Amino acid sequence: MVSVPEATSIILSRLFSPHKQKVPVIQAVGRILAEPLNADRDLPPFDRVTMDGIAISSQQSLTGAHHFTVKGVQAAGQPRMKLSDSGGCIEVMTGAMLPEGTDTVIRYEDIEIKDGIALIKLGKIAKGENIHFQGLDARGNETLLSPGIRVSPAEVSLMASVGRSEIEVFEFPRTAIISTGDEIVAIDQSPLPYQIRRSNGYALQAALRELECEATQFHILDQKDALEKSISAILESHKLVILSGGVSKGKFDYVPQALESLGIKKLFHQVTQKPGKPFWFGVSDKHTIFALPGNPVSTYMCFYRYIKPWLMKSMGLDHPFPSAVLATDFTFIPALTYFLQARIQQENGRWMAHPDPGGGSGDFANLKEVDGFLELPAERSEFETGEILQFIPFRN
Ligand code: AMP
Ligand code: MG
Repeated sequence: MVSVPEATSIILSRLFSPHKQKVPVIQAVGRILAEPLNADRDLPPFDRVTMDGIAISSQQSLTGAHHFTVKGVQAAGQPRMKLSDSGGCIEVMTGAMLPEGTDTVIRYEDIEIKDGIALIKLGKIAKGENIHFQGLDARGNETLLSPGIRVSPAEVSLMASVGRSEIEVFEFPRTAIISTGDEIVAIDQSPLPYQIRRSNGYALQAALRELECEATQFHILDQKDALEKSISAILESHKLVILSGGVSKGKFDYVPQALESLGIKKLFHQVTQKPGKPFWFGVSDKHTIFALPGNPVSTYMCFYRYIKPWLMKSMGLDHPFPSAVLATDFTFIPALTYFLQARIQQENGRWMAHPDPGGGSGDFANLKEVDGFLELPAERSEFETGEILQFIPFRN
């Protein structure tokens, strides 16, 4: 039996080394970047006009001039023009190169053009106005993005701007989710009175899906031989295996035995926590195995508290849990870390956690009422309103 902090550090000391995978940039959204993204030239690549108007030489306006003869039109997507006559101006469009010989753009809103002459209505002209200068955002050799960040549409736009149509992201391990139990039936079956559908398998698959990790589901009966044989076959083609059920003290809980007989090294069995006490964790040189207790709330909590951080950290992404403020006094006597279901609400700028424990670890219907688990340390029984505690969210 290990404590929650011990279980955490054992798991996090066994990170996996993810492979890299090249994907079209659109498919990189939500994935973790595995290579740096470098600028291919300055950003912006030229002095870019940011407003439709006229470009002038500010030198000229210092002399008090307010009338500028229009010498041409510089559109976006055209090679750079030149203003030879510093007393003149060039009409410029947003996105165009700033013409040579000019250094300031005056918006159409601030001028009047009549008979080919632009009259500036502004009292004072600020040099450099309405220009996005070359290299202001990034230099040509600069690293724009480093590995270990989660790609959002903002990063995709950077990739596109430097001409990357494909990018390397980290690949999740081949993942198997195994539901165990003689009472478990498939989602599309009508359960007999003593049977239930395998909701845990779907909860885990959905939670992994949110991270962009695809997984395959299996079901194995509570039979020692069947477990050994089926898990052995699954290990051939999956590096990450998440089991639910069969790790407690029941007569037919053969999972730990089966795993050990297949050469998986147990790193802990049982954690001083509620829910999820029977949690088993083990590894081989190729595999990581999380064997979670079958009670749906236990399975769910263990995924978010242990497996998700392990996956994220393995890919170089920091995964700190937020904290929340306990909104009412709460007592929990046993010397176990208690993961208290709670609803989160922002009040006076603070995230308040309102406890809603539900009806125990089998009551997964209660999960729809809450946003996550407040982690109450094992060392104490009394928790007071206003205490700041670690919060394990399962909604974004
Ligand atoms: P176990 O950990 O095998 O003792 O199972 C504990 C409880 O969780 C039992 O009531 C099981 O029926 C239930 N359970 C186990 N696996 C699943 C599953 N995949 N989906 C829903 N409930 C499950
Ligand atoms: Mg079972």
